[in-house]
Amino acid sequence: MYAYGPVPSRRLGKSLGVSPIPPKTCSYSCVYCQLGRTNHLQARRESFYPREDIFKDIKTVVGESRPDYITFVGDGEPTLCKDLGWLIHECKENWDIPVAVITNGSLFYMEDVRHDLMEADVVLPTLDAGSEELFRKINRPHPDIAFDKMLQGQIDFRKEYHGKIWMEVMLVAGLNDSDEALAGIKKALDMVRPDRIYINVPIRPPAEPWAKPPEPERIMAAHGLLGKTIDIAGYESGNFVVDEFKDARTAILELTSRHPLREEQARKIEEKFAEKIVDKLVSSSELVRVNYRGKVYLLPSRFRRGGSNENNPTGV
Ligand code: SF4
Repeated sequence: MYAYGPVPSRRLGKSLGVSPIPPKTCSYSCVYCQLGRTNHLQARRESFYPREDIFKDIKTVVGESRPDYITFVGDGEPTLCKDLGWLIHECKENWDIPVAVITNGSLFYMEDVRHDLMEADVVLPTLDAGSEELFRKINRPHPDIAFDKMLQGQIDFRKEYHGKIWMEVMLVAGLNDSDEALAGIKKALDMVRPDRIYINVPIRPPAEPWAKPPEPERIMAAHGLLGKTIDIAGYESGNFVVDEFKDARTAILELTSRHPLREEQARKIEEKFAEKIVDKLVSSSELVRVNYRGKVYLLPSRFRRGGSNENNPTGV
């Protein structure tokens, strides 16, 4: 299944998600990634699946719901999909629904990636660092992607693209929350000139358990230093639309494969289908329970997570 939802999104409202790439394929392996460590670290684009099959799946899910956005997001980096431009074009031809792309922005140095995104209404890239050193520590990119190359790609994209760019900066305690790190990010943001800047913090269990949100005063400092910013560091509101699923088991497994699900959200899904399944999925080890920031989350046991003291460059 390539299309799912709509799911509540903090930035996009009711968002119908589309993942055109296999899990978890990415050009980064961010310390805060909620999908675990990257299995396939790559910077080469591919047609992973027949594009017609992906579009057929989008058609089915759109037919059952009226989302605020069709969002290409991926279980990793969606611009790695060579068919992204074609898929966006088909969506724009068939429906009057805005198209969004959530991307790490690392491949914008490729002309074909920038070209593929031209028809999207909004592109939501990421910029978490202002130096090569910090970039390597937080985003752990594919060796082909240097910081300057990535940043120049984002600058070029801004010049060519007339839609909206909503940048996300993910703050991690001890990594990019110092005044110095924030000044570097600000300099980079000034070069890209996004339409909006969202400040986020890890809210779900990250790939590296030591990756934590900064103290509230450092988050406030980031808002002050980075300029006109919007806070999205809270939890998303609204329930998941699960009508497309035949039972609670399928719904919970599908949703947790996209990102960790709070146990309370999974319980609501159980209620909707009048089916008790969460405890069974945990006892069969299909899902694991993880405590993070005072909440219990469910996530697939296949998500690769580091140990709490492993490779911790933050010292916090
Ligand atoms: S957070 Fe996004 S960019 Fe970073 S590893 Fe995960 S999927 Fe890739």
